[in-house]
Amino acid sequence: MLMTKKLAIFLFLVASACTTAAPTKGIIAKNPAPTIAPPNQEAALVRNLLITLQRRSIAQGVEFCGFVGTDRTGRLVLSEPVRGDQASCRPRAPQNIQIITASYHTHGGYSPDYLGELPSPEDVAGDREMGINGYVSTPGGRFWFIDSAAGQLMQICGFGCLPNDARFQRGGDGPIAASYSFATLIRRHAG
Ligand SMILES: [Zn+2]
Repeated sequence: MLMTKKLAIFLFLVASACTTAAPTKGIIAKNPAPTIAPPNQEAALVRNLLITLQRRSIAQGVEFCGFVGTDRTGRLVLSEPVRGDQASCRPRAPQNIQIITASYHTHGGYSPDYLGELPSPEDVAGDREMGINGYVSTPGGRFWFIDSAAGQLMQICGFGCLPNDARFQRGGDGPIAASYSFATLIRRHAG
């Protein structure tokens, strides 16, 4: 989910919902063990999907979202992506995942009104509420990993490592660090 640059703090304070709110049934959320790096196999699976989703997301100007986890046989699987709108996306409860380990979503195309190069405070809060991690791709083609247990997020890879929006100029969202604690992310959104 994106946040408007000017309203980020206000929205964070009033928002109780989030893009990755827990689906109503059929889900066994798992509390991920603290990590300092994303699980390689999982991150690679999500990244492969996001390469495709980024193109659709940027062309259509909307977010796409879903989950990753393991099925009944323990195999790592992705849920079918859900199409959201310009600044939000609410994934459905996946039928093919028994244990959800992380959410994923794109941030659509470039907009001067949104700080799209960073996960939003709502993104982080939503994953944390579910006890899962998160992956976010940005208009500039950055790939983020949100580690809920560690309370940190990091760029798995930087500007242009995923398909990006040609309208986005590098640096257009100001300085973007390689990693943030959840607290410093909120301060960064506050400007
Ligand atoms: Zn987001």
